Amino acid sequence: MIGIIGAGISGVTLAYFLEKAGVPYQLLEASDRVGGYIRSKRLGKYLFEFGPNSVLCDASTLQFIQQFIPENEIITANEVSKARYIFRNGKYRKLPASPPSLVFNSFFSWQTKFQIISEFYRKSTGTPNETLAQFFARRFNQEIVDYALNPFVTGIYAGNPDELLLEKTFPKLLGFEQEYGSILKGFIKNKSAERKQSVTFRNGIQELPQKIAEKISHIRYNTKVRSIRKANQKFHIQTKNDAFEFDKLVVAIPAFQFADLYENTDSNFAQNLRKLNYPAMCAVHTVLKKSQTKFQFNGFGGLNPKKEGLFSAGSIWSSSVFQERCPEDEILITSFVGGMQYAESVKLSDNEIKAKLTEELQEIYKIEGKPVLQRLFRWQNAIPQYDKNILPIESKVKELERENLWICTNWVGGISITDRIYRAEELAQKLSNKS
Ligand SMILES: Cc1cc2nc3c(=O)[nH]c(=O)nc-3n(C[C@H](O)[C@H](O)[C@H](O)COP(=O)(O)OP(=O)(O)OC[C@H]3O[C@@H](n4cnc5c(N)ncnc54)[C@H](O)[C@@H]3O)c2cc1C
Repeated sequence: MIGIIGAGISGVTLAYFLEKAGVPYQLLEASDRVGGYIRSKRLGKYLFEFGPNSVLCDASTLQFIQQFIPENEIITANEVSKARYIFRNGKYRKLPASPPSLVFNSFFSWQTKFQIISEFYRKSTGTPNETLAQFFARRFNQEIVDYALNPFVTGIYAGNPDELLLEKTFPKLLGFEQEYGSILKGFIKNKSAERKQSVTFRNGIQELPQKIAEKISHIRYNTKVRSIRKANQKFHIQTKNDAFEFDKLVVAIPAFQFADLYENTDSNFAQNLRKLNYPAMCAVHTVLKKSQTKFQFNGFGGLNPKKEGLFSAGSIWSSSVFQERCPEDEILITSFVGGMQYAESVKLSDNEIKAKLTEELQEIYKIEGKPVLQRLFRWQNAIPQYDKNILPIESKVKELERENLWICTNWVGGISITDRIYRAEELAQKLSNKS
C-alpha cells in the first residue's frame, strides 16, 4: 500500500494515475478541500484566482485535462494575450517577442541588438551552478538581464535571477547552449515542438483538482499527518485520530511542512528543508469600470523590472486574457506584491498594500477615481525558490527514493501545474512497475 500526504494538484494527479493502474494507495489531506495553492473564488459577477491564473499546456497536458473537463468549459487565452508588456521609462512597452522583432523594435538599445544577433555565434561556457542572471549576462548583456529576464523571473517564480539556478529553473536553455551553441538557435530549431497555449476553466483553475478528485476513491479529508516514523520497513503515519501503515510513502506537501514531520528522523535534512526560500506574496484583485481609463489592456499583463523601482511586481490583465472573469463593462487586474525582490512591500498591512497599489495603478493606467472593488489574498509562503539551497535537498531526495520515500511536489522537478502533472504521471509509472 502506498501512502500519499497532501492533495494539491501533485497528490491528486498521482492518486488518479495509481488508481488507473490498479495500485493500492491512500491519499491523506489536512484540509477539507483539494488543490492546495490552487484557489479560485467566485464572488458575485467576478471570478478571482488567488494562486495560479492559467495552465500553460502542451498537447499532452491538454489531452490529460480533457479527460476531466468538458471542451466547452476549457477557456483558452485570447489571442491578444500573446503580447507581454514591460514597464520602462514611465510606461508599459510591448516586449518584442520574436528574434526579428527583437532587432527591429526600439525596446532595446543598439548595443543590445548587436548582442542579440551575435548570440547565434557566441562561444562561451558557464560554470557549474550558474545563476540565471550570470547565464543571460554571459549570452547577452545586462540590459537583457534587467529588462527581459528580471521581470519574467518575477512573473513566474516571484524570484530573484541573481539567485535562481539556471539548471534547476530553465534546464532547456542550458540544453540549447550545449546542443546548438546558442539559445536563440535552439528556440528556432524547436519552434514547432514549443507550441503551447494558456488555458483556464469556466469556474477557475480549481476545477481541475476538484474534477480529478471526483475520479479517485481513496482520499481522506481533514486528516493532517502529524508524524512519520519508519520501522520494520514500514512507514507509520500518525494523524489526530488514526494511525496508518504504508510500504511506500509519497510526500506532496511544502518543504517547510515536511521538515516538521521529518525532524525526528533526520534533523539535518529537516534543517535544509527549512532553508528553502518561500517568499511571501499577495495577489490583489482590482476591478475598474472601462470608462475609468483609456489604457488599452491589449496583452497578458505588465511586468515591472526591479530597476524601475515600482511597488508591485506586476499585474495580469485578467479580463483581457480570459473571458467571463468580470462583467463586460469592467476590467479585472490581478496584481502581485511581494516575492524575493519585493520582500519589504509585503510587510505592510492589507490596507496599506491596497492603498499603495491603487496609487501605482492610477498613475500607470491613468485611472480616474477609485476602483469599483479590491480584494487581497496573502500567501505567507508562496513559491519555493530553486536557488543554491535546493542542492543538498535534491541529493537527499535521491537517497530517500532508495528507501521507498518519494517526493512529488513543487520543490522537486518544477513548480508549474504542467510540471506537476508530468512528474506525478512519471512517479505513478515507476511505482506501478515496482509494486
Ligand atoms: C500566487 C501563485 C501563483 C501561481 N501561478 C501559477 C500559474 O499561473 N501557473 C502555474 O502553472 N503555476 C502557478 N503557481 C504554482 C503552482 O500553483 C504550484 O506550484 C502548485 O499548485 C503546487 O501544487 P502541489 O500539489 O505540488 O502542492 P500544494 O499545492 O502545496 O499542495 C499541498 C497539499 O498538502 C496539504 N498538506 C500540507 N501539510 C499536510 C499534512 N501534514 N498532512 C496532510 N496534508 C497536508 C495541503 O493542505 C495541500 O492541499 C503559482 C503559485 C502561486 C503561489
